[in-house]
Amino acid sequence: MFRLNENYLKLPGSYLFSTINRKVSAYGAAHPDKRIIRLGIGDVTQPLAPAIIEALHGAVEEMGHQETFRGYAPDLGYEFLRNAIAENDYKDRGCDISADEIFVSDGAKCDSGNIQEIFSLDNRIAVCDPVYPVYVDSNVMAGRTGTYDQKSETWSNVIYMPCVAENGFAPKLPGETPDIIYLCFPNNPTGAVITKAQLQEWVDYACRVGAVIIYDAAYEAYISQADIPRSIYECQGARTCAIELRSFSKNAGFTGVRLGFTVVPKDLKCGGVSLHSLWARRHGTKYNGAPYIVQRAGEAVYSPEGKKQLRAQVAYYMENARYILDGLKAAGYTVSGGVNAPYIWLKVPKGMTSWEFFDYLLEEVNVVGTPGSGFGPSGEGYFRLTAFGSRENTVEAVERIKTAGI
Ligand code: PLP
Repeated sequence: MFRLNENYLKLPGSYLFSTINRKVSAYGAAHPDKRIIRLGIGDVTQPLAPAIIEALHGAVEEMGHQETFRGYAPDLGYEFLRNAIAENDYKDRGCDISADEIFVSDGAKCDSGNIQEIFSLDNRIAVCDPVYPVYVDSNVMAGRTGTYDQKSETWSNVIYMPCVAENGFAPKLPGETPDIIYLCFPNNPTGAVITKAQLQEWVDYACRVGAVIIYDAAYEAYISQADIPRSIYECQGARTCAIELRSFSKNAGFTGVRLGFTVVPKDLKCGGVSLHSLWARRHGTKYNGAPYIVQRAGEAVYSPEGKKQLRAQVAYYMENARYILDGLKAAGYTVSGGVNAPYIWLKVPKGMTSWEFFDYLLEEVNVVGTPGSGFGPSGEGYFRLTAFGSRENTVEAVERIKTAGI
């Protein structure tokens, strides 16, 4: 008789967004006259930029003709896209990454969940707390995380690195030595960033202890300050200790189009074996490539027109972030993030829990955000608002919060 992968049974229910939806639906049903504004989810709302649409149309047309039709894409992705990525995201920024170290995929969620497969099950992971849940859950599914403690909501074999106001929401080097370190900057959910000097410390640490860093830079496009690194490969030594994950979801609105990539430098080795060869094997065996049409759309992200239009799109969201940040500060809230990231992280007032504040905002001002406790124990007492809404909704939500007072 077949048996299940019992690790899946250890996963606590996907509590966060299902609970949010349930509460919002119940409130909406009971108050049909209220207009609820959602600033909770991390999905974009602006349509695809014209340069992207043009590239998509062009590629669709090609697929309709015998001479230009394409079938399966190359394992690592089309060269035109990998070259554009290597040139624009790395070479132009002084990073030594070549096109054949880039693996094109259908997004950073899959890559961030799948990358753990190439590591031994007895490796110990370290994550920021709060954290994008995929890093931990994918390791739970693999059986790497030990047992779950309901009370503390932590896994026995995971090293949690608290990111709280006292450390500027930037993790300290862990006391216990991990094998795999997940870092995400600009951060989801806190919107925090670290400087190049701080990231260099992590690279030096990983090299020293023989750990690998999985660096999730999905929000890189939102960096506005000069000394914040856009890639971990800006740091010396990162080629020997770091894998970088990138996404086209937030810089180009591809959440429904699906495109991302992972960089595995050929210098990253374990006992003489290159991780690049393992990830290439995994990619070749389990993945058949992002669609040609989508990869052409990805190429357009790097065209002069594409860059201009997407800069404007990111600026639109960041203007929303500024509204939220300034408005909440004016209302007396303690807020952070929102300068190099589309997420605003606020301290919940009056000693409420994250969920109590969620209920308060929903019921008093009909605004939906995300309770920080849903991202990890250190998120308790915090709350995430996103800048991905429309301007109109963002401004109205902030006005409502300001009017309600603290
Ligand atoms: N990494 C982080 C930190 C994210 O917040 C998200 C999406 O919200 C992703 C990865 C997923 O990106 P993608 O849409 O490319 O799968």
